[in-house]
Order: sequence, then structure tokens, then C-alpha cells
Amino acid sequence: MEKRIIYADHAATTAVSDEVMQAMLPYFQEHFGNPSSIYARGRENERAIMDARARIAACIGAQPNEIFFTAGGSESDNWAIKGAAEQMAAQGKRHIITTAFEHHAVLHTCEFLEKHGFDVTYLPVSPEGLVTAQQVEDAICEDTALVTIMYANNEIGTIQPIAEIGEVCQKHGVLFHTDAVQAIGNVEINVKEQHIDMLSLSGHKFHAPKGVGALYVRKGIFLPNLIHGGGQELGRRAGTENVPGIIGLAKAIELATADIPGKIARLTPLRDKLIDGILKIDQTRLNGDRTQRLCGNVNVSIVGVEGESLLLMLDNAGIAASSGSACTSGSLDPSHVLLSLGLKHEVAHGSLRLSFGEEFTEADVDYILEVIPKVVERLRSMSPMWETLTKQGIRLV
Ligand SMILES: *Cc1c(COP(=O)(O)O)cnc(C)c1O
Repeated sequence: MEKRIIYADHAATTAVSDEVMQAMLPYFQEHFGNPSSIYARGRENERAIMDARARIAACIGAQPNEIFFTAGGSESDNWAIKGAAEQMAAQGKRHIITTAFEHHAVLHTCEFLEKHGFDVTYLPVSPEGLVTAQQVEDAICEDTALVTIMYANNEIGTIQPIAEIGEVCQKHGVLFHTDAVQAIGNVEINVKEQHIDMLSLSGHKFHAPKGVGALYVRKGIFLPNLIHGGGQELGRRAGTENVPGIIGLAKAIELATADIPGKIARLTPLRDKLIDGILKIDQTRLNGDRTQRLCGNVNVSIVGVEGESLLLMLDNAGIAASSGSACTSGSLDPSHVLLSLGLKHEVAHGSLRLSFGEEFTEADVDYILEVIPKVVERLRSMSPMWETLTKQGIRLV
């Protein structure tokens, strides 16, 4: 078979697209002015940022003055959660509700707040990787300051019932933040219709550069600063604006949200063919709900293989993917997301995430489905664990 080069790690990051690159380029040299400066070169850039703000707002159903630029998803999550916590604590509310499978930018921020006197409820997720609005409602109490629940999970791609959760929060007068970093461009988002008070997004997950993102904050919510200094971003977030990044972010979100139904229609059959093909291998399982999932996400566990070895062999075959056992924090513990589904450690260790975007084709699917069974057979033939399991007739999934 002919070797192909396939980038199947869009959930980790994406390349800056040509159109985004072209939109940004003038702002590195020709239009380099500081937006705070009084002369034309500065004012022009201030206008360019205002324009970008309006265009981004339009893509998620927000108003321009509800969009604040940040250095990415992690900063947006930190700002929303720490800011809301500080503000609500002043009213005596110190309880936060989140889920067990949030991104670390949310989980570690919640853990930080626990050390500073906040109570955090980590809602368990179903074996399919979903939470319900009912769970949220049951957890809300008088002291609840904030609910923060991700729109779509970065590992298993499951999409949460955000509008229903937003409705419950509104009913009880509780602030609702969602980390929508993986959802942008894959799900139709309207912050007003979905009752979202704060929403985090990050450019590099949809073909803008790394290090630029935004936080939507509904008008009327006062969010204390995370970054103190100059008066940028209406005095709410200091630091000279990343002008090229902001211009790129606006271009990228317009492109990403231009035809979401079209993207879903094209990628869903490819995703499902990939899932069905991999599940033909003995002792494999799909992680995350089959249908309530991002159109570009496949996450499977393959018993008897080790995630890291699998990735290296796929890399040899030209396929860049990711694994839930990746030692992102320098530890070899399987991902908290997979464990939150109730997976055994041995099963979680053999997991594989393939996340793809617009350029993905059926030929890519066919190639991946040729490579994976061979690689799995090879790894299993070298695995003492697989030998023991097969000898004793034990099935882990
Ligand atoms: C990538 C990601 C983040 C972090 O965004 P950065 O811009 O890399 O800081 C946060 N949440 C989710 C769900 C992500 O996928």
C-alpha cells in the first residue's frame, strides 16, 4: 500500500490556513501600530480590532462589547472561573459545579479555588461521556456561584446538552460558563438562545494561530480582571493587543462557522466508517457516545496494546494521532477523561484518538483502516498481557 501522510490530531492543534495567514500578514509589518497610540497608524489598528470583535461576536450570536481577547483557551477558562468566583464570593457564594472530565484548564483552576476556600462539585459523567441538565439542577444549592461545563470534550468528542444546562442555570440565577474550545466550527452556537453567560474559545483549534483566543462575557456580568495593567479591552484585560492574532482569529472563526451543517454532513459518514472499521478488530470499544459526538472525533480503546507504542507505529506509517494515555503531565496515568467513563486502567491505556478536519477524505479513512489492524496485530503479538488474556480467555471489553 502506498504511504500517506495524515494529520489526525486536530483536537491538539491545527495549521494556520492560507486565508487566515493572508489576512494577518499586513499586521506584522505595514500595520504594526499600537492600537492605543493616538496617531493614524495606531487608530487604524484600533479600528481593525473593533471590526474583528464585531465579526467574532456575530459568529456566536453575541454583541461586540461582549467579546474580550485573551491569549487562548487556558486564559479564557482561568479568567471566567477565577473572576466569577471572586465576584460571587463577595456575595457569600462559594460553590462551583463542574464535571469530572473537563479540560485541565478548568479542572486545575477549580482545584486551585478549592485551596482558597471554595467548594467544588465534580459531576460524574455517564459511561457514554454525557452529563444532564437534571444532574446540574440537583447539584445547585443556595451557595452556588458558577456552573462550568465544557461544550464538547476534547478527548472523546461528546457534546453536552448546553442549552438545557443554560436554561437550568438561568432559572436558578447561577452563572454559566462553557469551555467551547472544541465546539467552535463543529456545532452551531448562539450564546443568547443557549443561555450562556461566558464562553471560552481558542484560535489554534480552528486554523488561527496559537496564543490567541477570546472570552465572551454576557453584558451585565461584572468579571474582575485576571491580568492587571493598562486599559486595553475596556480596562478588563491589560496588555498590548495581539493585533495579527486577533485579525487571524476573526477570519478563522468566520471560515469555521460559515457552513457547519455542510461540514457535519461530509465528515460524519467518514467518522462512522472509521469507527465501524476499527471496531471490527477483536476486543475494542468506542469511547464516548456514538451520535452525540463531534463529527471529526474518533476515540477507541484497543485491549492488549499500549497507547504510546501504537502512536509511534502509526507515526511510522505517516499517521499523526493521539492517545488518552499520553503522559501530558509527565505521569503514566491514563487520562482522567477515560477513567471518568469507568474504564479499567488496562483498557484506558490502549486508547487512540483520531481527530480530523475539513481536508479529511475517504482515502484517508481507507488507509488508516489498512494500517491499524496490522499495527495492532504486531503489538499484540509482542504483548505479554495479550498473551495472558487470550490464554485464559479473558475479555476486558
Ligand atoms: C485546547 C483546549 C484548551 C486550551 O486552549 P489553549 O489555547 O491551548 O490554551 C482548553 N479547553 C479545551 C477543551 C481544549 O481543547
